[in-house]
Amino acid sequence: MRHDMELPTSEKRPVRSSDRSWEEIRKEFPILQQTIREHPLAYLDNAASSQMPQDVIDRLVWYHSGEHSNVHRGVHTLSQRATNAYDQAREKVASFINAPSSKECIFTSGTTEGINLVAHGYGRPFVDEGDTIVVSALEHHSNIVPWQILCEEKGANLEVIPMNDAGELILDDFDEMLDSSVKLVCVNHVSNALGTINPIKEITDRAHKKEIPVLVDGAQAVPHMPVNVQALGADFYVFSGHKMCGPTGIGVLWAKRRWLEEMQPFQGGGDMILSVTWEGTTYNDIPFKFEAGTPSIAAAIGLGAAADYLDHIGMSRIAEREAELLTRTTERLKALGGIRCFGTASEKAGVVSFDIDGVHPHDIGTILDNEGVAIRAGHHCAQPVMDRLGIPATARASLAFYNNEADIDRLVAGLYSVKEIFGV
Ligand code: PLP
Repeated sequence: MRHDMELPTSEKRPVRSSDRSWEEIRKEFPILQQTIREHPLAYLDNAASSQMPQDVIDRLVWYHSGEHSNVHRGVHTLSQRATNAYDQAREKVASFINAPSSKECIFTSGTTEGINLVAHGYGRPFVDEGDTIVVSALEHHSNIVPWQILCEEKGANLEVIPMNDAGELILDDFDEMLDSSVKLVCVNHVSNALGTINPIKEITDRAHKKEIPVLVDGAQAVPHMPVNVQALGADFYVFSGHKMCGPTGIGVLWAKRRWLEEMQPFQGGGDMILSVTWEGTTYNDIPFKFEAGTPSIAAAIGLGAAADYLDHIGMSRIAEREAELLTRTTERLKALGGIRCFGTASEKAGVVSFDIDGVHPHDIGTILDNEGVAIRAGHHCAQPVMDRLGIPATARASLAFYNNEADIDRLVAGLYSVKEIFGV
């Protein structure tokens, strides 16, 4: 790549047909082409982190080799290129989730930081002693711990929407929970531990009747289905780049302008101010009010490229493909016998959590790794979900559109070996 010429800041994505086959799409992911322990890699740990297609990798290389400089502060050409690309990335992610305005999209380091930003920016001014934050029983630790910290500091209470044995939220008593002390409802769109797709619209409708805002953790939804924050009725929606074929260290908090205007800044520093004197500071407009210091410029641009990539394939097509793979995985595991699956919600995304009686999930993970099959074993940062199910951990296979039938066959063959080794 030569950089002695005027580089366009527009994307350099090669022209690809949007209806190319899944096998062609799979080939666009260089990391999937390798062998692990002399077996072709079957990567089934997508809920932890997804892989990057060549287009996103190329976009990062292009940025680093021809556009890098700091944003929003230089008059020179590189700074303008970097600023344009960074601003365009914000437009891309806004359009990807159908946000009414890109100004409502704050770049964060990921879902965790997005939730912490709301816990500070909204929690400090709006939550007081005796108030309540409602979370669901299905949450990842990152949508529990920031609220526990806030409640402890403020003398507020944390209440939990329960779940049933299938991993579905029980909303029968939800309206009664929503009394005048409730200042926020926090719920994930899709559970990372069980794959449950929660009825977000129903939750936001019911909370809004009592004028209570809703924060939705979309970390496991945005990569797998079309997400329209306006149709969902969320007040806050957070997600991570690295779970949607983008880089690590970047994510998005989308929030309704009204809240962003009323919230306090999360961190102070450069870029988030209009003026600073010894007498005081005037904050910048949104989104910059919430982006103190030099942002993760490259990662944001990479995330924009990832949004483009997914959008080009089509999120509905991706959701259909993953639903097919989920059905196949579930059926094959059932047929194998001796596998106990957790999370049997009627609305489910491509997460299969399971155990085998008499075998620790870590042993399942290690034996599968020996056969080139990558899954996750543990509590999946959702210990309350494990406690509710009465288990310490599960093995979890999580799917992405670039997985194929062979990956599932390899998982099943690996589990067959596990059963043989342990004689179960
Ligand atoms: N929420 C859910 C549902 C998740 O699955 C995860 C990560 O696994 C997170 C939040 C935290 O995401 P991150 O570590 O990217 O901040």
